[in-house]
Amino acid sequence: MQHEFGRSDSMNPWFAKSVVLAASVLLIAIRAPHGHRSRTVKTAKNCKGRLEVALLIVAWLGFFTPLVWVVSPAFVFTFADYTLYLGPYVAGIVFYAVGLWLFRRSHVDLGTNWSVTLEVREDHRLITHGVYRYVRHPMYTALFLYSIAQLLVVPNWFVGPSQLVAFGILFALRLGAEERMMLNEFGDEYAAYMARTKRIIPGIW
Ligand code: SAH
Repeated sequence: MQHEFGRSDSMNPWFAKSVVLAASVLLIAIRAPHGHRSRTVKTAKNCKGRLEVALLIVAWLGFFTPLVWVVSPAFVFTFADYTLYLGPYVAGIVFYAVGLWLFRRSHVDLGTNWSVTLEVREDHRLITHGVYRYVRHPMYTALFLYSIAQLLVVPNWFVGPSQLVAFGILFALRLGAEERMMLNEFGDEYAAYMARTKRIIPGIW
């Protein structure tokens, strides 16, 4: 931990580790009640293929890598360390805050229709209100904001991008299948919803 600590323009890496730890706890705390409740809602159609299982494992690896970094002894990952500066650190905290807020809002709006993988639930309703009015995939927007936050806060070129790479892979390989599943299930209603909303960035994409 002696690297760079004490230089007036750099910060103690524990500043980053505390923020990463707090954000991870909040992410789990926000999801936990929904994960719990989702087990009680019956599944009507399961679209969880082998690719989906692999993607979920990749996503978990992306999530756990920074936690290993937080608790790891000084010699693990240090080959990739760089200096933590105040600007990216503060920007990262803002990204974490907005990302976690949107993560919570999208879980609340989806309610019992949420599941961790590609599934249609019994009595599944198409949600187009709340944050779903602005984009079709606000939860994925939230996870991108969260991933960018980690990139900004973690001063390590291996650990910093882990979430962005893992979630980026999940997003790229899942989005098409998810929208096809929704089109299959909701037909014109989803097609109309697609026509009036963007995917993850309001008004842009
Ligand atoms: N892609 C969405 C939801 C992620 S959770 C987002 O980023 O906000 C994945 C599950 O949510 C899918 O299995 C699907 O059944 C459900 N889902 C996705 N969009 C939905 C919507 N607009 N209304 C209801 N359920 C939706």
